[in-house]
Amino acid sequence: MLRTVPRTRRVLTVCTVLVLAVLAAACGKEGSPPVKGPRPDQLPVYKVDTAFRLPASPTWTNARKRGYLRVGAKEDQPYLGEKDPATGVYSGFDIEIARMMSASLGFDPKTIRFRTIASANRETALQNGQIDYYVGTYTINAMRKKLVGFAGPYFMAGQGLLVRTDEHGIDGPQDLAGRTVCSAAGSTPYQRIAADFPKAILVSYDTYSICVDNLLTYQVDAVTTDDAILLGFAAKAPDEMKVVGKPFSREPYGIGVPRSDNALRFALDDALEANQKNGNWKKAFEATLGLSGVPAPKPPPIDRYPAA
Ligand code: GLU
Repeated sequence: MLRTVPRTRRVLTVCTVLVLAVLAAACGKEGSPPVKGPRPDQLPVYKVDTAFRLPASPTWTNARKRGYLRVGAKEDQPYLGEKDPATGVYSGFDIEIARMMSASLGFDPKTIRFRTIASANRETALQNGQIDYYVGTYTINAMRKKLVGFAGPYFMAGQGLLVRTDEHGIDGPQDLAGRTVCSAAGSTPYQRIAADFPKAILVSYDTYSICVDNLLTYQVDAVTTDDAILLGFAAKAPDEMKVVGKPFSREPYGIGVPRSDNALRFALDDALEANQKNGNWKKAFEATLGLSGVPAPKPPPIDRYPAA
C-alpha cells in the first residue's frame, strides 16, 4: 500500500521529531543518561589530497571543472544524516564518510554541496548525474548493482523494529500479522516485509521520520528499517520509543556512484581503506553514530568487485 502525504504533514512530522528531541534533551528523567548530540569537536580533520588526480573518471573530471562535489544524503536520520533546519548544515556518520571521501578525492569537504534524496530516488539521481556520489544508509544488493555502482561496504546494519514503549505485543517480524508497520518507499526493509511477512499491514512514506511521527500518533504500530537508523530515533526520545528483537537481515552500506564510473568506485574503495587504517573511520563513528548506542563495530571488508 502506498500513501502520499501532503507537504504540510511532512513539515509537521519534522517538527514533531524536533520537539521531541528538544523535550527529551531538556527534561531527561533523573538517573537517565542525557540525550547526546553530535560532537563536532571530536570529529577527525580530513587532510585534503591536493595532488590527487583521476582523469579516468568522468564524474571526478566534471567535479574538478565545477570546483566542488555534489553529494546525495539523508537529512532526517539521527546520527547518520541530519540537516540542521536553522543552518542547513548536514551532520552524522554518513556525512563524515562523504567528507572523508571528498578530502581523498582532492576536494575540501567544506565545499561539498549536499542534496537530500529519498530512498526511492537514489538510483535515478545517480543515473541522471544530479549527484556525484550518494552516502545515506544505502544497502548494496544485486538488484541495485544493475543500476548503480557501490564502493564499500563501510558499515553493516540489520533490519529491526521500532515500537512505542507502551507496546508489548511486538518482539520480531513474526508478530506483525494484522498489525500496521511503516517503512520508506523503495527501501529493502519495505521489500522484505512485503515478501516475507505478507500478513503485516504495510504502509510507506518517503522518509522514516514520517513513519516515526505516525508511530507516535498511534497511526501505525511499528516502524521498520535498519537498526542503525531506528536506534537513533529511539535515542532521541527514549521515553516514547524502543527498538525490539534482533536484527533480521544484513544491510551492508555502500557509497552509490554512477554505474559505469569504475575509476571513481575503485578510488572510493581505496579511500575507505586508507581512512579505516589511519583511524579516521573509528573516530568519525564514535563522534556520531556511536552516540546513539550503536556498538563500535569492526568495519566490514571492502568488496572490490570487478569493473561493470
Ligand atoms: N538500508 C536500507 C536501504 O537501502 C534502508 C535504509 C534506507 O532506506 O536508506 O533500502
